[in-house]
Amino acid sequence: MMTPWLAQRAVDRKDAPALSVGDRTYTYAELAAEVQRRAAGLAAMGIERGATVGLRAQNSLDWVLGAHAVFWRGATLVPLHPRATDAELDFQLSQLDFDLLLVDPNDAAPDTTVRTVPLDELRGPEDTVCRAARVAMDDVMTVLFTSGTTGKPKAVPLTVQNHLSSASASALRLGLCENDNWLCCLPLCHTGGLAIVLRSAIYGTSFELLDGFSTDDVLAVLAERPVTLASFVPTMVYRLLEACEGAVESKLRAVLVGGGPIEARLLGEARRRGIPALPTYGMTEASSQLATLSPHADGHLDTAGTALEGVELRIEREDGTLCDADEAGAIWARGPMIMDGYLNRPDENTARFRDGWFRTGDIGRIDRNGFLRIEHRLTDLIVTGGENVDPGEVEAVLRAASGVRDVAVVGLDDPEWGEVVAAAVVPSEPVDEPAAFFEELGEHCKSELAGFKTPQRWVICSELPQTHSGKIHREQTRQLLRDAPVE
Ligand code: ATP
Ligand code: MG
Repeated sequence: MMTPWLAQRAVDRKDAPALSVGDRTYTYAELAAEVQRRAAGLAAMGIERGATVGLRAQNSLDWVLGAHAVFWRGATLVPLHPRATDAELDFQLSQLDFDLLLVDPNDAAPDTTVRTVPLDELRGPEDTVCRAARVAMDDVMTVLFTSGTTGKPKAVPLTVQNHLSSASASALRLGLCENDNWLCCLPLCHTGGLAIVLRSAIYGTSFELLDGFSTDDVLAVLAERPVTLASFVPTMVYRLLEACEGAVESKLRAVLVGGGPIEARLLGEARRRGIPALPTYGMTEASSQLATLSPHADGHLDTAGTALEGVELRIEREDGTLCDADEAGAIWARGPMIMDGYLNRPDENTARFRDGWFRTGDIGRIDRNGFLRIEHRLTDLIVTGGENVDPGEVEAVLRAASGVRDVAVVGLDDPEWGEVVAAAVVPSEPVDEPAAFFEELGEHCKSELAGFKTPQRWVICSELPQTHSGKIHREQTRQLLRDAPVE
C-alpha cells in the first residue's frame, strides 16, 4: 500500500514548482494544501477508496485540484468531456455507478440522478487537513473514455500500476530533468492531457496548464515561460508553424506528437523551426504512449519510433502468424501500462485479448531495427471489389494536389463493389465548379494510384468533422458523403 503521489511530493519536493496556470505558480506544498481542502469536502460526502467520481469541466486549476482530491481520497476518477452532447453524456453516465459528479460551475447542470456538485463548492476552509488515503497498485485510479473515433467511446479502467508504468517508461525514453515543465494544452479528460498531470506528480516536476489550444497562447507561453516539454496532436503542430514565420522561440527539449497520422514532412519542418518533435504512438487503453522516437535517434521521422521500455509489440497476419520485418499486419501490444479490459464490453474483450496481448486495432509494420510504422486503423481499410485500399495513401496523394487544404477518405457501402472509395475535401479556396474540381482531383489520383483507389464519390466541406479530441470523425465523414449529391 502507498499514499497518492501528490502526498509523497508534498514531502519530498515541497518547495518545487508543481503547476503554473496564468500568472500563478503553485509549489507541491501549496498544491497539496489546496487539494486537502477539497479532499475534506469529498470526505464529508462519503467519497473514499472504492467510490467513483465523475469530473466534467474545461481545463482549469479547479479541474486539477478536483482530480487530485479524488486521488487523495483513493477514489476512482472518471473524466468526462465538457463539450459532450446530452446524449453522449447520458451514455457515459450509464457505463458506471457514479457516487458523485463534479461539474464546471459555469456550465448548466446536467440532467442526471447522480449527485452533482460544482467544483467551486467543494473547497473547505483554508488549512484544512485531510489525511491521504492508502492505495494499492491494482486500485482502479481512473476510468477514461476512448475518443469515439470508430464508434461509441469505450470505458477504459486504468490502475495505479498502469499509470506508474506509463510514466516510468515515458521518462526512460525522454529523459527526466529536475526543472522539467510540461505544456498541457490538450484536454485533461483524455489520456494525452491527463498523463501530463500524472507524470508531473510522479516525477515531482511541473506543468504549465492552458484552458485549451490557441496558437497565440501556446506561442506566448513557449516564448515567455521555461517550458521544456509539450504534447501536441499533429494539427496543433501544423497550426503553430502556420502562425509564425521562422523559428518558434522556446526552451523545449522534446515534444510528443501523436494521437493520429503524422506526416514526416511536417515533423521535419517542425524540427527545422525549433520544435524538437518526437512522433509517438499511443492510445487510451495503454495509459498513453506505447512507442516514441528517441530524442537521440537520427532521422526516422516517418516512423513512430520504437517500443517504450517494457512494451512488447508484435505484428500479425490475419491467420495469426507473425509478420516478417517490414510486412504490414495487425499491431498487438503487451506491457504493464495496458488495461486489463474494457468495462461492459465482453465481446470486445474476448476479441482483443489473447495470452496477455492486446490487439490495438491498428495496422502497422516494424523494420529490422524495431522502428514502428503505423499504416492505418483496421476499421479504416476500404475493401472495394475485393481490393484493399488504405485511405491514408489516397489522402496523402490528394493532400499534395493543388487546391486541397485537407481531405479525408472513407469507404461507403455499395451494392456492386462492397465499398466504394469516397473523399471529403476542404479546398484551399472557394470552388465555383465542384464537378470540374473533382474531375481534376480524380485525374491527379489516377496519375499516381491504381484506378480502384481513385475516389468515386466526393463532397466539399469547409472543415472535416472532428471528434472531441480533434481527430477526423470517420463515421460523420461517411454520413456527409452519403448525404452529398452525386456529381
Ligand atoms: P475509439 O477507440 O473510441 O474509436 P480512438 O482510437 O481515436 O477512439 P484514442 O485512444 O484517443 O481513441 O486514440 C488511439 C488511436 O489513435 C490509436 O489506436 C491509433 O489509431 C491513433 N494513433 C495514435 N497515435 C498515432 C500515430 N502516431 N499514428 C497514427 N495513428 C495514431
Ligand atoms: Mg481506439
